[in-house]
Amino acid sequence: MTDSFTRLQDGLDSIKQTRSLRRRRVLESGQGVHVQLDGRPLLSFCSNDYLGLATHPALVQAAQAAAARWGVGAGASHLVTGHQQAHHDFETAFAGFVGLPSALLFSTGYMANLGVVSALLDRHGVIYADRLNHASLNDAAVLSRARLARFPHGDIDALARLMREPVHGTRLVMVDAVFSMDGDQADLPALLALCEQHDAWLLVDDAHGFGVLGAGGRGSLAQAGLASPRIIYMATLGKAAGVSGAVVAGSRLLIDWLVQKARTAIYTTASPAMLSAALLASLELIEAADEARLHLAKLVAQLRTGLSCAGWQLMDSTTPIQPVLVGNNDAALALAARLEHAGILVPAIRPPTVPEGTARLRISLSAAHRTEDVDCLLNALQGGPQQ
Ligand SMILES: *Cc1c(COP(=O)(O)O)cnc(C)c1O
Repeated sequence: MTDSFTRLQDGLDSIKQTRSLRRRRVLESGQGVHVQLDGRPLLSFCSNDYLGLATHPALVQAAQAAAARWGVGAGASHLVTGHQQAHHDFETAFAGFVGLPSALLFSTGYMANLGVVSALLDRHGVIYADRLNHASLNDAAVLSRARLARFPHGDIDALARLMREPVHGTRLVMVDAVFSMDGDQADLPALLALCEQHDAWLLVDDAHGFGVLGAGGRGSLAQAGLASPRIIYMATLGKAAGVSGAVVAGSRLLIDWLVQKARTAIYTTASPAMLSAALLASLELIEAADEARLHLAKLVAQLRTGLSCAGWQLMDSTTPIQPVLVGNNDAALALAARLEHAGILVPAIRPPTVPEGTARLRISLSAAHRTEDVDCLLNALQGGPQQ
């Protein structure tokens, strides 16, 4: 009989055998385009810090000033005494910024997804989910006990067929607005039309769109010109916004319900007020970052042109997430190692984060990159896949 310890050891051994073992590298610097790792400076294409705000002096200053004023711990949950003015001001400012009636702060995007989905659905409900959705959305479905119906990536017709079956409980369609490992975008207008037709909620996870897409960086809904009380808009605040946390915005009715029922917002200590203060400063920078977003779009075009000339297989993405498909785990790891040897950091992403046989390099660009940085990456990849 295998005991508890042997089971873990066997599990780890089999992860190693399939070349899937992950390890945490220790970053010896702040996040950014130039990082320090294992005592070496590297040019990084690894972060989700799309606007280069994670170490921005205005955000650091806002956090420092708020720490001096509010301290570093909120000390209680939002419903007890942890909901401080800074949190409240950020929620109000965020709702105004994205043009939605109301907003609710969560400590992370993972918790926001768990909280929203489990607050809206129970075991009588059905959740329709794109196959390439973020893990937190899948976990949220399990927590809610609703039936999870997954549809092939981006296949609106398949979703329409699934939704034809009658359902007695609540329905919810959920997608990444920008898919985190592929960089392509969900067809939000088509999804909303199906939701209207079948009285379903539409949960839009805009972790990679907020700050990057749409006028003033208002995100994927703004880019698509969509508004509906059925839409639950979720933006994470640790990516382009450069800080930490997540916010859910939508109708007042929706947010009133979440305040009562979203357990990951209720049974947890409020995030430090200094983060909300930094986020308030971040909103201003995001809105003013049109030039940075234009520069970022140019870098995306430069990278794609260069990579496809060298013969690499690109994916259907116009966002700063630009994966290079490699296929098997060993090849992806070898390529990442070769780049790192050349002073460039790009993560190799392997299953189970992506489907079997689709290991890839996930290049992510930031407005803080210069065209010379992209040239440098392209030089290192010049030989193409066959070299
Ligand atoms: C990063 C991410 C999350 C989780 O957000 P955190 O704030 O990092 O917990 C959720 N959804 C998607 C699509 C993400 O990429």
